Amino acid sequence: MKPAQHNELMKTRLPKMNTAKSSSWLTTDKRTESILRNALDGTPINQQDAEHLLSLPEDSTAAALLRSVGNYMARKRFSNTAFLLGQIGVDMAPCDGGCAFCAFAKPHTTIQPSTLSTEEVIARCEGFARGGAQGVFIMTMHRFGFDWFLNLCASVRKAIPAELQILANVGDLELSQLTTLREAGISGAYHVCRLREGVDTRMSPVQRRATIERILEAGLDWYNSCEPIGPEHTARELVEQIWLGVELPCRQHAAMRRFPVPGSPLFAKGQISLARLAQIVAVIALATLARRNLASIAVHESNVIGLLSGANALYPEAGEPRAEEQDPNWREDGFTSALWRQSKEITTADCRAMLALAGFGFGPSIRPSLGRHHFGSPESSRSSLPPSQDSHSFTVKHS
Ligand code: SF4
Repeated sequence: MKPAQHNELMKTRLPKMNTAKSSSWLTTDKRTESILRNALDGTPINQQDAEHLLSLPEDSTAAALLRSVGNYMARKRFSNTAFLLGQIGVDMAPCDGGCAFCAFAKPHTTIQPSTLSTEEVIARCEGFARGGAQGVFIMTMHRFGFDWFLNLCASVRKAIPAELQILANVGDLELSQLTTLREAGISGAYHVCRLREGVDTRMSPVQRRATIERILEAGLDWYNSCEPIGPEHTARELVEQIWLGVELPCRQHAAMRRFPVPGSPLFAKGQISLARLAQIVAVIALATLARRNLASIAVHESNVIGLLSGANALYPEAGEPRAEEQDPNWREDGFTSALWRQSKEITTADCRAMLALAGFGFGPSIRPSLGRHHFGSPESSRSSLPPSQDSHSFTVKHS
């Protein structure tokens, strides 16, 4: 290829940059500088500061500086340790939640109902434990059989290593149900009042928040996230959603971008870049500086840019690959967020490699790499879809 042709090609591939004011492009505005200086001194940003930081163009040097400060402060605060929390979708069916972004929503889904056996859930938990995960999210649709879920969790709890925490990611629950889950050995619950809850979903923001308050009242750890983020969400909307996890004591805050699910009403909106996701991670890191209860900040889908901007936790979608998974004909039931993006599942080995690339030490229960597999190698991940549909593109966490 001739150099001129190459330059033309690069122009089409590179994102459009703000080159109108090339002299100011390399500087930050005074307000950004002041906010970041205060944050470096340990002062959490307020909502107005957060809105300003989220309004910065993602390709500006000011946004790069924000990500750098988020990275620095999070590493200092979390002693440069990181965590893995696995995902197991145990019950898959067309979901009454009807979320306009979700692969399972009844109005537009094509999935068939399926449920994992207890033995399969235990085997997957063991795979996550072998890969060094600290906990595992057990995920269902919005509506699920409580007694079935309770029995499943109780059986799994007895069978898996004591240091692997079980975390529920299910629909809205009553206080008595949450207390029962805690007594059965569940440590915490992921629950989110989503962006545009009640508009893009059929659920009530009041009910979602009430469940979060009950999670805390039941003595469970609350896992929160700013999700599912799309390009249409304004800085103000993001701030309001993030702040629920600043005002209430979450154990983990997070940011997750929306994967555009083909056939879903929000498909045409597209998705945000990893740089934008990392900018939101950095804002979460600086907004929660004073929250002593916060043990980690996650970025989903797992990626290194987020880990270099304030995140110290990832959600692997599969544990250490087992021998049978090396068979090209091997297929798996159930779901993880890989199903949403129609891509390979990201394993614990992949996530450990990302943590190493980002310069993290492993958390207390994260063991040294046990697998033969490395991030990016074809055998380190697996797919339930034809190779033509595989890609390491992007994801959504549900419920
Ligand atoms: S995001 Fe959760 S509640 Fe909404 S449709 Fe999907 S599975 Fe159901």
